[in-house]
Amino acid sequence: MADDTDRSLEDQQKELERSIAAARRDLPELHTGECMDCGEEASNLRESVCTPCRNLIEANRLRYARV
Ligand SMILES: [Zn+2]
Repeated sequence: MADDTDRSLEDQQKELERSIAAARRDLPELHTGECMDCGEEASNLRESVCTPCRNLIEANRLRYARV
């Protein structure tokens, strides 16, 4: 029984790692510049949007997707 649980957790971990690797592959490179959302100078822009703004956008997207 414990073996089944261990295997399941192992499978989940592998699936998670696969998902993270796939997501990373699709992400554009980080670059420096002015965020087109908040206007702040940042070194962590991705497609011209800084990390805090991306997080906000993502949070809003998830919130609206649930409605
Ligand atoms: Zn920003």
